[in-house]
Amino acid sequence: MMSKINFDKDNYLQFDDYNDLMIQAFGIGCSLCYEPQISFVLKGHPKPIGTLIKQQNKNLTDQEVDKLIQKPIEEWQKFEDINFENQKPTFLCDECWNQMI
Ligand SMILES: [Zn+2]
Repeated sequence: MMSKINFDKDNYLQFDDYNDLMIQAFGIGCSLCYEPQISFVLKGHPKPIGTLIKQQNKNLTDQEVDKLIQKPIEEWQKFEDINFENQKPTFLCDECWNQMI
């Protein structure tokens, strides 16, 4: 849990991941309340993985998907780790967002 939160609304963008894949497949959620609903993401984030897969614009085998998303998953983990260290929420749900602004 973050002890003191570093929040600036100008540092956030709408989170838009195709089919909410990251929530559905990886079980991510709001960085503050852990609800599986995300409306905003910290700027500078890697490309959302559902969107990345969608942009391939073809049917991929499970193996191709695994290969495609391996590095992006690491990038997201790194991004979240750094944000956590800096006490910045990576993802925010509507409710937490409304309490912060
Ligand atoms: Zn929340």
